[in-house]
Amino acid sequence: MTLVKDSLMTSLESVKDPEIDTVSVIDLGMVEDVSFEEGHVSVKMLPTFMGCPALEIIQKNVEEALYKVDGVESVEVKFINNPPWTSDRITEQGHVRLREFGIAPPPTHLENGEWHVDCPYCGSTYTTMENIFGPTACRSILYCKGCKNPFEAMKPVSTIM
Ligand SMILES: [Zn+2]
Repeated sequence: MTLVKDSLMTSLESVKDPEIDTVSVIDLGMVEDVSFEEGHVSVKMLPTFMGCPALEIIQKNVEEALYKVDGVESVEVKFINNPPWTSDRITEQGHVRLREFGIAPPPTHLENGEWHVDCPYCGSTYTTMENIFGPTACRSILYCKGCKNPFEAMKPVSTIM
């Protein structure tokens, strides 16, 4: 049981975000629950963004990865919205890998209502949100006043359209 679960988690580690191929669904904190019973795997996942077009691809990739694990006969992947995904769920490793890809981890929301995000290139906190609607539905465009580079950040919470 435990062995199978370890294999399932290892397998999920291999499922990358279709748009950011350096991070896995585990890195992003999308996996809320994995259960295994008599050959049946049930996975509960949190979408990083409501209605993200990549979700179908992710679901397919998760299923494919899990079917490769010995003893798995059926797989069910469910996307749930409660609890909502937030950027706090991204793992330490996920942060490193996002930066490698040139994408800032999602901004954090300050008490004064502003979003705060560090530049993935120079680490400067002197950045501005240029456009909450980035090149893909799940990302925003920001600009660093420190090194004068535009960069992308993931949206901070799944419920921002
Ligand atoms: Zn910068």
